[in-house]
Amino acid sequence: MPLIAVTCMYDDKERRSFLKDGYIQALERVGAVAAVLPPSLSPQASAQALSRMDGLLLSGGTDVAPLRYGQQPRPNLGPVDPLRDEQEFALVRKAIELGLPILGICRGMQVINAVLGGDLIQHIDGNIQHQQQAPGWHRHHSVRIEPGTILARALGRSELGVNSFHHQAVGTVAPGLKVSARSPDGIIEAVESSEPWILAVQWHPELMWQRHEEFLAIFRAFVGACRGEENG
Ligand code: MN
Repeated sequence: MPLIAVTCMYDDKERRSFLKDGYIQALERVGAVAAVLPPSLSPQASAQALSRMDGLLLSGGTDVAPLRYGQQPRPNLGPVDPLRDEQEFALVRKAIELGLPILGICRGMQVINAVLGGDLIQHIDGNIQHQQQAPGWHRHHSVRIEPGTILARALGRSELGVNSFHHQAVGTVAPGLKVSARSPDGIIEAVESSEPWILAVQWHPELMWQRHEEFLAIFRAFVGACRGEENG
């Protein structure tokens, strides 16, 4: 049974870590066990723990500190979590060194892009609303999926209605990553790489799969890669 390192949120005021159930239950549903690594664990210990695991899942959360991708903070930047940035940057580097598959969700996709040398749009201000005011499982906008990608093979479709809870997006795509989905306004909604195995989505499948089972395919593809199955 694959053991998956999962990152989580951190509340600096209360000094406690937390994570939504949907990630843990989705992994269990597709045959894996989540081992949650709180940001209070040092980057060194986090990276060490990863050497006993089979994959890395970067969950959603706050904004990445802009200096980490070569920008100054703009006025409309949201909250940042330096402790978590430090931990997750170390984890992504270690996962790549160990050859472990990585699944990035929302902030997770932004972290992966920043670690690999891309940058972010600090605040989206376009024609499509990307911060829905609706239940988490609601399909808010559509995305077009690039044919022939890991994501297209996992989902078996070229268009998908997704939820949307982000005010930032991937800007310049990091070398080694390719875009696998965009929303109609051109915002990058998924990126991936087959070597190392990386899949990252801007939406939140962990809030969707309970009502829309096709979103489990993302977790299934990831856990398959963690088992060493050919699906990339
Ligand atoms: Mn969106």
